[in-house]
Amino acid sequence: MDASRSHSAGGLPVVGMVGAGQLARMTHQAAIALGQSLRVLAVDPADPAALVCADVHAGAASDLAALRSFARGCSAVTFDHEQVPQEQLRALVAAGVPVHPHPDALLHAQDKLVMRHRLAGLGLVVPAFAEVREPGDVGAFAAEHGWPVVLKAARGGYDGRGVWMLREAQPELVAELLAAGTPLLVEQAVPMRRELAALVARSPYGQAAAWPVVETVQEDGQCVQVLAPAPGLDEDVAARAQEMALRVAAELGVTGLLAVELFERTDGVMVVNELAMRPHNSGHWTIEGSRTSQFEQHLRAVLDYPLGATAPTAPAVVMANVLGAAQEPAMSVDERVHHLFARFPDVKVHLYGKAERPARKVGHVTALGADMAAVRERAALAAAWLSTAQWPDGWSVHENAQEAHGV
Ligand code: ADP
Repeated sequence: MDASRSHSAGGLPVVGMVGAGQLARMTHQAAIALGQSLRVLAVDPADPAALVCADVHAGAASDLAALRSFARGCSAVTFDHEQVPQEQLRALVAAGVPVHPHPDALLHAQDKLVMRHRLAGLGLVVPAFAEVREPGDVGAFAAEHGWPVVLKAARGGYDGRGVWMLREAQPELVAELLAAGTPLLVEQAVPMRRELAALVARSPYGQAAAWPVVETVQEDGQCVQVLAPAPGLDEDVAARAQEMALRVAAELGVTGLLAVELFERTDGVMVVNELAMRPHNSGHWTIEGSRTSQFEQHLRAVLDYPLGATAPTAPAVVMANVLGAAQEPAMSVDERVHHLFARFPDVKVHLYGKAERPARKVGHVTALGADMAAVRERAALAAAWLSTAQWPDGWSVHENAQEAHGV
């Protein structure tokens, strides 16, 4: 390998991450500990990672010239989102850039139709689905599978944007989306107990590692809490979910992280919903809750280092997202943090440097302990307080501070 091309002045590798959101920001934190500094490709200088990285390239993920200049000198190029056109990725690979995951693998996290076909082909359980080419296709699918159905943009959606639960045919909506060029699929609405996620990492060498399977608590199509491990999940079922995620990573040739989003159907069967090939919201708990965080593991994997141990650091770990409140909180974020620290000295706070807008993920908190219900309550209260500057009725700011110190 040409060391002058691939390594920083200190002899350590340079990882380039396309995108500069909170995932890149937290990957940068892990890179610092490894003696590295993440390079990011940022659309906006105010992006969460652009605010903290020293090596920021300006440009869009669709701009090949920007991607080429960004990739120059990188030991590995990876992503904090999926919205990078295949054409540009393939041009980088053709130019010899070590892109992780490879575009052949990443395609399955970019296109829900491609992913559904591939996973069904591997014999995994996925919701019944069909491509939508004209508005009538939705009603035809429902005639076979029943209402409601889930209409999805095959590409470009995230956090539930691009997902519509339909209880009846809405031909105008479908026609409008098709006219706008949105590729669509329709799926059976899966009757489920809850949503789970299996997070694994795989290196180019083929080494793989899995974290405990977690429950992802959703509200309005968005993850609000992650419970690690998933409470009450049968050990065998959890082990099978991990094995399945490792198999998907190997079959698709994923390098880096792979998050497999799952539905636990009401009859107990695991159904695959989504794949993500990057650090994922379902893995934020690993920063404090696992021996190796997902961010460090992603770096290790894309650099083909040996992977780190994934053992949890506590019997119960809960991550709760801090979402922008519907109404502007009565206190500044700094005051909210101050009160939170007084009330919950054990809770760890991560803020992403983002402006607060309703329902926008602006940070997260993590709580650890022995009892899942108690840990979950602490995390939920802490996150709600940071969002809204309001405690539930009957709670005062300084109460329980001593008790919290004892946790
Ligand atoms: P995104 O890519 O925007 O995250 P997802 O495909 O993960 O979209 O869907 C978002 C949420 O919508 C899921 O977490 C789940 O709550 C719900 N959902 C998606 N597909 C189905 C389905 N087939 N049946 C029931 N609920 C679904």
